[in-house]
Amino acid sequence: MAIDAIRRVKRDVVIANRILARQDVLDAYGHVSIRHPHDPEKYFLARSLSPAIVEEEDIVEFHLDGTPVDPAEKRPLYLERFIHGGVYEQRPDVKAVLHSHADDLLPFSISKTTRLRPVIHNVGDMGETVPVWDIADKFGDETTLLVTNMAQGRDLAGCLACNRLALMRGHGFVCVGRSINDLTRLAVYIPRNARVMMAAMKMGDFISLSKGEIAARQKLDTETPALLRGWEFWAREAGVGHLVGDD
Ligand SMILES: [Zn+2]
Repeated sequence: MAIDAIRRVKRDVVIANRILARQDVLDAYGHVSIRHPHDPEKYFLARSLSPAIVEEEDIVEFHLDGTPVDPAEKRPLYLERFIHGGVYEQRPDVKAVLHSHADDLLPFSISKTTRLRPVIHNVGDMGETVPVWDIADKFGDETTLLVTNMAQGRDLAGCLACNRLALMRGHGFVCVGRSINDLTRLAVYIPRNARVMMAAMKMGDFISLSKGEIAARQKLDTETPALLRGWEFWAREAGVGHLVGDD
């Protein structure tokens, strides 16, 4: 018998955690969530645990304000879960959210002169604009740089605005998707895009994707077999291929 929609989503959160850890988008830190399939005011995210070891029973259901739906939930939770609720609140189109500290992106979060741009085809749908959020702009220079409350989560979501990706100064990034596959596939290639751009910058002038190319990539249906292929392959590579099917 096919598993129900909630179990499917919990398994997909596990798969996304394992893939993104295996692909070095996440390390001991960072997290990925999926919006509740029936109730847009809730989302699923792991308890405080490193992504590479997340299992189905570690997935917690949250209200958008970061409170667990089950009042009996007493396990430690991610301090930065407010990133997810902040984005879901402001972006009804978003079904999955990732927060990562991948260091390939960090130079672009602190550079005063160079903005991250899409330079390889796989990330054309990350869009032309990658805003940089500086927590100090609104919350002063004595924070830990972590997003530890809803006010900070909402401010970050406001900086992300309608974009797919926002960098967080000296900290990491937030990336969003219309589905978990859409998010995971893009996120796998975002650090690679940053590495290619850094390498090209050392060589001199370089070419970014054009507005037309970005628009064409954004029109692709991410749920077709061609763009779903990575999900199953990466899941198997990460040791969770058995969770992909509905049984
Ligand atoms: Zn963080």
